[in-house]
Amino acid sequence: MRHIHLIATGGTIAGTGQAGKTSGYEAGSLPVSSLLRTLPPLPADLRLTAEQICSLDSNEVDGGLWLRLARHINQLAQTDIDGFVLTHGTDTMDETAYFLNLAVKTQKPVVITGAMRPSTAASADGPFNLWQAIHLAAKPEAAGKGVLVCFCDSIYSGRDVQKVNTYKTDAFNEQDISCLGYMRDDQCYFLNSSLAVHTTASCFDVSSLTELPRVDILYFYAGAPEDALDFYASRAQGLVIAGTGSGNYSSRWVKKIRELSARRLPVVRASRIGHGIVSRDPHFEDSDNCIPAFTLPPQKARILLSLALTVTDSFEEMEEIFRKY
Ligand code: ASP
Repeated sequence: MRHIHLIATGGTIAGTGQAGKTSGYEAGSLPVSSLLRTLPPLPADLRLTAEQICSLDSNEVDGGLWLRLARHINQLAQTDIDGFVLTHGTDTMDETAYFLNLAVKTQKPVVITGAMRPSTAASADGPFNLWQAIHLAAKPEAAGKGVLVCFCDSIYSGRDVQKVNTYKTDAFNEQDISCLGYMRDDQCYFLNSSLAVHTTASCFDVSSLTELPRVDILYFYAGAPEDALDFYASRAQGLVIAGTGSGNYSSRWVKKIRELSARRLPVVRASRIGHGIVSRDPHFEDSDNCIPAFTLPPQKARILLSLALTVTDSFEEMEEIFRKY
């Protein structure tokens, strides 16, 4: 018997709107009991329990909820539960998946899913995604792989998954790496694994954190004024730049970031492109507070920098963390 526990947080999978339509609906309006009613009968050797932890559009998700979820899963992982499924809105699903990948302390499968179409749409994708996620969470092969996202017949790593389409049902990928594997009905087929440190090997312990250090993202564009950096530097403990190309920005921004070094403010250099790598470059990293994001997009670099700030104030150690996680 495999015991799978479902934690519902809202999102489009629990959304309702005008019959048939895919737009103009309210996310997170159905309780988890209604989601369960959409499922076909589960195998006799699979026991499913469920709880509603919140009912949010995932644009309302914040660090407080991430801490709550991580701690809750860490506690429940000590019980007879064999795997977890989390239903979540797709807009920030990649962020929650990465945070939990760094903060949960279990080898048991943790699978996140959701839907692009509300429950009232013609051909809603939620029931099938949920059904597959439950089956994936019950598979021994899904253990020890970090937090997974199961969506539209594919399995993604929480480390690399990104939303790449605004409305189509096949809305996620892992950029150049594609996916970790496929689902075909209730069967999983793993093809890849992530080499990044996660879950039980992660150095981050959120058990006693009451909040996450504030890290903000600044988007660079042609002619972007550098005084935006001053504004955020006075409020945040770290910054992430969504730079052009391979994490680039103007000489004015380079100068300003160098000035922020004196205030011991870490600045992570990511890219707004979404593919490729931002690696060490002496033009930017001449200032010791400037750290390349490697393959993390800005929204995930923000999460890693925030957690890194809970364990170190050394820029060198932060860079090492960015290389490994
Ligand atoms: N706005 C919704 C959310 O993220 C979108 C979705 O779930 O697809 O909660």
